[in-house]
Amino acid sequence: MKINEQPIEKILISACFLGERVRYNGEVKLLVSVLLQKWQKQGRLLSVCPEVISGLPVPRPAAEIDQMTKKVITIESIDVTEQFDKGAELALRLCRRHNIRLALLKESSPSCGSKTIYDGTFSQQKIIGEGVTTKLLREHGIKVFSESSIKELAEQIDKEALFVSAK
Ligand code: SF4
Repeated sequence: MKINEQPIEKILISACFLGERVRYNGEVKLLVSVLLQKWQKQGRLLSVCPEVISGLPVPRPAAEIDQMTKKVITIESIDVTEQFDKGAELALRLCRRHNIRLALLKESSPSCGSKTIYDGTFSQQKIIGEGVTTKLLREHGIKVFSESSIKELAEQIDKEALFVSAK
């Protein structure tokens, strides 16, 4: 890096978007996007799966946020709130270590959802809400986007690049 050159701003990204086998059912869910390919080439992406870094295995039972108690409960009625909170905390630490202010996280996940989550009844019903990691990141000023708002994330990156170059 040249003197005075700004380090490229990194984006925290859900590991499953990059094809990593971290999902609860062990399946791959790659996000195919030209923007993503560009950011990957630029070395912007830092992947994380909050559930896996918390120590949960792959595969693992599906989990949803109970809307009465706000606890994360598996389909087998096990309370995994502690592990989900730990995953969120570790993701936040990663953001702090790398000065990350932007994240691209998988919609509807009980960890990563940013606009919707499943309603806690395991009946495939979605409601407006956010996952445990998204909530914690937002509470600390990190902007969280999803696959449906990836263009808004690109606009945000462009805006911040303009801001930096104007300094
Ligand atoms: Fe993907 Fe997030 Fe679920 Fe991990 S916790 S599998 S990164 S959506």
